[in-house]
Amino acid sequence: MDNIKKALQPKIKLSNLSFYYNDRTVLNDITATFAQNSITAIIGPSGMGKSTFLLTLNRLWENIPGAAVGGRVEIFFRNEYFDIYDKSYSLPELRRQAGMVFQIPNPLPMSIYKNISFPLKLAGEKSRETIIFKVEEALKRAFLWEEVKDRLNDDARSLSGGQQQRLCIARALILEPEILLLDEPTSSLDTKAGKIIEELLLSLKERCTIIMVSHYKDQVKRIAGKVLELSHGKFIES
Ligand code: ADP
Repeated sequence: MDNIKKALQPKIKLSNLSFYYNDRTVLNDITATFAQNSITAIIGPSGMGKSTFLLTLNRLWENIPGAAVGGRVEIFFRNEYFDIYDKSYSLPELRRQAGMVFQIPNPLPMSIYKNISFPLKLAGEKSRETIIFKVEEALKRAFLWEEVKDRLNDDARSLSGGQQQRLCIARALILEPEILLLDEPTSSLDTKAGKIIEELLLSLKERCTIIMVSHYKDQVKRIAGKVLELSHGKFIES
């Protein structure tokens, strides 16, 4: 019974979330929840704040001069809610829990293997065996292992655009995040490469709560369980 209760808890709860760039209000008093193991698509016209919204979920906006947040963002982790803006909440912990993938794949100028192992090393992992095991696991989860297993030492920038995007997803997955944030992850890819990413996201839903900005209506229909349109600072469920 307890496990059922836990599974039903929303993964993310927003309470009166507002966001400002100087005197411009981008998000206006949003209250919403995001279910565990679901895919939510954020849609809406350009400039409405969709990318900004993703940044409020992992605090990636904090170095932008003049930017400010109001309200609460709570995430359900180890059976309790944590307010990610609470001073006692650790930023490295948040970055571990909420992985981010951007519109344009951004592999680091190093080998495929090093790209994937980098976040683990940064997090302090020392065991070579553990790193090798986790790199393979992340690449398998990102549907990339078969294509790169014989060329792990090649420069990651030699991969195709679709492969680079899956590499970036694998890099986000290696820390085993429970939340995955994606900002138009297929918009720089051709249809075939985009479809592979869609299949991948559907399989990742088993282990992650996924929030994805997308402007492809068909894509949203195919994979999202919930669609929120961002319009003038508010979400409208569609
Ligand atoms: P969307 O993802 O829906 O296209 P954005 O989140 O990128 O929208 O931007 C929302 C609004 O905030 C836009 O008007 C944009 O110009 C503004 N904005 C985005 N980033 C910054 C920034 N770093 N500084 C000031 N304003 C910004």
